[in-house]
Amino acid sequence: MLRKSLLFLLACTALLGAVLVFNTLRFSPPAAPAVGPLRPLNLPDSALSHFRQAIRYRTVSLEQGAAPDSAQFLGFHRFLQRAYPRVHAQLKREVVNQYTLLYSWPGQDAQAAPIVLMAHYDVVPVEESTAAKWEHDPWAGEVHQDRIWGRGAVDNKANVTALLEAAEQLLLAGFQPSRTVYFVFGHDEEVGGQQGAQQVARLLQQRGIKPEFVLDEGGFVTTDRVPGLKGTPVALIGTAEKGYLSLELTAEVAGGHSSIPEAETATDLIAQAVVALRKQNFPASFTPSMDEFAAHIGPRLPFVQRLAFANAWLLRPLILSTYTKTASGAAAVRTTLVPTILQAGVKDNVVPTSAKATVNLRLLPGTSSAEAVRQVQALLPDQRVTVKPVGTVSEPSPAAPTNATGYQLIEQQIRLQIQDVIPTPFLFVALSDSRHFQPLTSRIYKFSPMTNPAGLHGLNESLSVESYQQCFGFYHGLLKAAR
Ligand SMILES: [Zn+2]
Repeated sequence: MLRKSLLFLLACTALLGAVLVFNTLRFSPPAAPAVGPLRPLNLPDSALSHFRQAIRYRTVSLEQGAAPDSAQFLGFHRFLQRAYPRVHAQLKREVVNQYTLLYSWPGQDAQAAPIVLMAHYDVVPVEESTAAKWEHDPWAGEVHQDRIWGRGAVDNKANVTALLEAAEQLLLAGFQPSRTVYFVFGHDEEVGGQQGAQQVARLLQQRGIKPEFVLDEGGFVTTDRVPGLKGTPVALIGTAEKGYLSLELTAEVAGGHSSIPEAETATDLIAQAVVALRKQNFPASFTPSMDEFAAHIGPRLPFVQRLAFANAWLLRPLILSTYTKTASGAAAVRTTLVPTILQAGVKDNVVPTSAKATVNLRLLPGTSSAEAVRQVQALLPDQRVTVKPVGTVSEPSPAAPTNATGYQLIEQQIRLQIQDVIPTPFLFVALSDSRHFQPLTSRIYKFSPMTNPAGLHGLNESLSVESYQQCFGFYHGLLKAAR
């Protein structure tokens, strides 16, 4: 009897092994349309100089509600007018809320759904204390080692000027787009986009505009981020965006003199709450955009990883446990939570009566902000700690389709600009202005056509000249191909 069971077990294992290997061998990426040959475009002579000038404007967003430095922001507007005279002569330009720019370029086919191409020209500050640590002046737009250096080079002025440069060149050649094209250049993306992109979205909605698709900043082309594909360029096209929620935790316990401390203080409760929340992770799971990522990337991986992705029906827990081992992997598969502000106390010999912590959550599609608040409350070890949402709340976005015109155009242009690239849908874990367009369309894509950019929001932000050329070629091709 035992022998029979053992044989049966062996047979089952062999069968399972055969199924796993069979699935792996026939696991192939979704069929891609034949494109090519490569069509990299050379930059017009003045293009690099325009981009470098754009970086010199200190269009800094400091905090929500703070007034922008109008000399810098309006100076940037005037610079665009000088640099791109045909765009400004032939396209309709509207200024929304003083600073955000909306350009309309009427298409030949007035009936066709228009497209919306977005970027933002505000930047995060360069902290005084770190300015000296930059290898090159963050506000000079210098070129060294074939890279353009400066705050905003990547996030996100390259997209603004490359797009306008492409439009300028096309106008020079007498081109008119097939569909109407809108350019939206936000002035407050780094503080939420409520004054800029959100107002433009409302305006276009009032005008009854239903875009065919929206393209904004987002994923990049990377040659070193996807495990198992080191050295291969992978273009990460955001098809969904995580949600955003900050919670303020508060504990209030009578304080007093620090020479006779009570057994329990407000700071103890907050510290325990923060530690407890950090120890408990939100569950990891596959979202629709992760499923798509797996379908595109999985077949290209080395055998063992390919086997796991080809048999995700069985091995998903294994894939998830691998992904959650790194910060970027974990961010792709679960709601994350991290404390960002701690506040308590005013004097070293006074026990504070109140302590607060702000924790920032990035919500995985499928988890609403209300659900996340409930989960955080349930995880707190002491119910005297209260939880309150603060600031901007953004719900996670649904996944945009990949079998749609917009996605296919973007993918096609990526293939035409970059040798041997693998384009794939993925979940964009940060925020972008494009989320404000969700009431207008579900076809929103988040992608910046640049390879291995450096220093976003940090030190030494820089972009290779080759990447800037890619941006230009990408937008130029996209505008021509968007029918
Ligand atoms: Zn940005």
